[in-house]
Amino acid sequence: MKLSWPGKSSLKSRLVKLLLGCDTLLLLCLTLSFVCYHSLALPPAAGQSRLLLFTSLQLTLSLLGVMGLAALLSQRIDWTISEPIRDLSRKMEIVSRSQDYRVRVERTGEDELAVLFACFNNMLAEISVRDERLALHSEELELEVAERTLELSEVNRQLEASLESVREAMQSAQSANRAKSDFLAQMSHEIRTPMYGVLGMTELLLGTDLTKEQARYVDTVRRSGEALLSIINNILDFSKIEAGHMELEQIPFDLHQLASDAIAICAEDAARKGLELTLELEPGLPRMFLGDPGRLRQVVVNLLGNAVKFTMKGSVRLSLTVAAPPALVRFSVEDTGIGIAPDAQQRIFNQFTQGDESMTRKYGGTGLGLAIARQLTELMGGALELESEPGRGSRFSFTAVLQPHEELPRPERCCTALRGKRVLLATDDERTRGGIEGELSSWGVDLECVGDAPEAFCRIVTAPFDLALLDHHLAGTDGIELAATIRTAPAGRSVRIMLLTEREEESGDPRLTETDATSFPRCQLGQEGLYHALVAALGMDDEERLATGCCGGPPPRPRQVLLVEDNVVNQEVGRGMLESLGCRVKVVEDGAAAVSEVQRSSYDIVFMDCQMPVLDGLEATRRIRAWEQGSDNRVPIIALTAYAMPGDRVACLEAGADDYLSKPFTCDEIAKAMDRQLQGAVTVLAEGEGGSPKPLEVISHDKMSGALEMIRTLPGNRGVEILRKVVELYLSSTPALLQTMREAESGGDAEKLKAAAHSFKSSSANLGALRLAGVCMELESLGRAGSTEGALPLLHQVEEEYRLVRDALRGGPLC
Ligand code: ADP
Repeated sequence: MKLSWPGKSSLKSRLVKLLLGCDTLLLLCLTLSFVCYHSLALPPAAGQSRLLLFTSLQLTLSLLGVMGLAALLSQRIDWTISEPIRDLSRKMEIVSRSQDYRVRVERTGEDELAVLFACFNNMLAEISVRDERLALHSEELELEVAERTLELSEVNRQLEASLESVREAMQSAQSANRAKSDFLAQMSHEIRTPMYGVLGMTELLLGTDLTKEQARYVDTVRRSGEALLSIINNILDFSKIEAGHMELEQIPFDLHQLASDAIAICAEDAARKGLELTLELEPGLPRMFLGDPGRLRQVVVNLLGNAVKFTMKGSVRLSLTVAAPPALVRFSVEDTGIGIAPDAQQRIFNQFTQGDESMTRKYGGTGLGLAIARQLTELMGGALELESEPGRGSRFSFTAVLQPHEELPRPERCCTALRGKRVLLATDDERTRGGIEGELSSWGVDLECVGDAPEAFCRIVTAPFDLALLDHHLAGTDGIELAATIRTAPAGRSVRIMLLTEREEESGDPRLTETDATSFPRCQLGQEGLYHALVAALGMDDEERLATGCCGGPPPRPRQVLLVEDNVVNQEVGRGMLESLGCRVKVVEDGAAAVSEVQRSSYDIVFMDCQMPVLDGLEATRRIRAWEQGSDNRVPIIALTAYAMPGDRVACLEAGADDYLSKPFTCDEIAKAMDRQLQGAVTVLAEGEGGSPKPLEVISHDKMSGALEMIRTLPGNRGVEILRKVVELYLSSTPALLQTMREAESGGDAEKLKAAAHSFKSSSANLGALRLAGVCMELESLGRAGSTEGALPLLHQVEEEYRLVRDALRGGPLC
């Protein structure tokens, strides 16, 4: 708004006029007082008082005039200035109170106040226009907001609807997944149970007399069964990981042993292909860790298995190093095989994918192994990596976070049996030398190392050694030639010789027998196997067996085993396996029968199936444990289950079982489980012996002592020749001894019984027939006590045992 200053009738001119009016009024008063003075012209006598009167009158009149003037002035000012301003402030107050911008101030004229009022009015007008516009705009905004809100709530509704359908889809996917897992678990149980029958029976069948052709067929059945089982296990594992059900255990384990076991599993395949399979453990790598040894072994074995499968010549190496102390361990599997093309290097980690589809037919496989291995390593807090060059080989490596666990003291026995033995090691391979040096010195062996054959020969002929450990691949010669040379020297005839072999054919070399040498596969170095092999090669026995009285003392009696199993095939398989291990087996078919059987008779061990009708294995175990409360008896229980779901193991152990075996299991696994519970109760077959375990059970080579042992270890075939004659003698003299014992029993002649039993005991023990010797000893004790009462059942046992011994000696390795 433009403010124009008013012209002639301004406020100033009004005030001027007002003042001029006042001046006129004052002049009028003065004039009036002058007129009064002259009209009242008084005589001089009265001069003084008259003047006084006049002055007073004049002053009064002037005062009146000024007062009138002031009143006039004030009224004029009030009328022209104050009143309009009061009016303005009243209006302003109204506006501020009511916010009503339509109020206006009235003013006519053109003075400054009129301009001010006009400006005020204009301002109010502007404000009310703006207000109106604002109101309009806010109305528009409200409309727009309402519109948008509508749109948003529509979108929201759609989102809700899609969320709901996603939720539903998720729920149905989850329940489908759960159903899939349950189905797989159930299926795995259903498939594994008959597989247990197939594999178990095959194992037993392989232990019987078969023609070559039959053995080949049965072996094919066994291999196919194992392959099928491994596929089932892979699928089960994969679906468990996919469904998020894979749970890792946290239990203490020996990492060195785990690595050696993995190597041992692949050793046969590697040897068959002529591959060098080696294990390298970083010096200082701790031994004991907390983790899931089963899953870790699964990953390592998978990578090693692939490496062996895809390598035609050269080597496969497993190495373990500490990636970041104390808990991150790196596992690397390196091979010199066919390698993997760059474009396939990512793909092969996907499920059901193989590097080269054409390989499928050549090498077989499901393409699941690496997918599972990768996911398992991720669950273990690591990552699986690959470096590979086609034609040159591959290197798979992964890390795993493992919790270090307190080192267990090495078993005392490892330091006693070999303590003080003098061993000569001949090898030009630094790694082999380092590994063996560490192991042997920890067992207290007095070890000397040489790097070539001439030096080895010189040492043997100049100093007495208990054993010579010769590398099969020595520069300039081979171990067997060196062994033959050693045997030519008189000082070298009594030394035991063991060869470190690389390939399977080497251990079957007939020259080994000719030089009376034993062999040990290099790939199994670092395992407990070396200890046992050395003990055996030295013709000794380890303390484990001494402790159980196998050596010198009475032989172990057959173990009484209760097998609780409802499936008839499984009953047969279990019974067959346990009997082949020399156990007496009672079979019952449900948990309730097991509980009453344990209460009625005394058993050394119980094998308890978990899933059974009437009363399941877990509940039966609980009842047995409850019944044992307060008594000193506690029978070891080994739970058997076909399930391999997480939590099974824990559930069995929580119910009171001492150990757990997952079906299908092998004879060896049963034997090891029994050994764990009964400390050396069962003679575990040496790997690769394959055939019927009975002869070895019945006859123990290790127990042949004194003269017979000396005869047997004579170099060349002479010892065996003489031993054969001794066996003939034993077999021909025994019927007479048996007859004498029978007569003594029926005639009640204790002295005769004692003498015959004593003679039979010592000849049997000399040949290593320890079980038979043990029963004879019981008969001898009876006779020594002057009685023949209770001799009859023992005599039957002697006859039964003797039949086994006779068969073993006639068909066994002694003859
Ligand atoms: P499979 O059971 O078929 O061997 P894997 O998942 O273990 O399944 O392996 C997937 C593929 O990765 C194999 O088919 C092969 O093509 C490739 N592969 C794995 N390991 C090696 C290796 N050491 N050398 C060459 N190729 C390999």
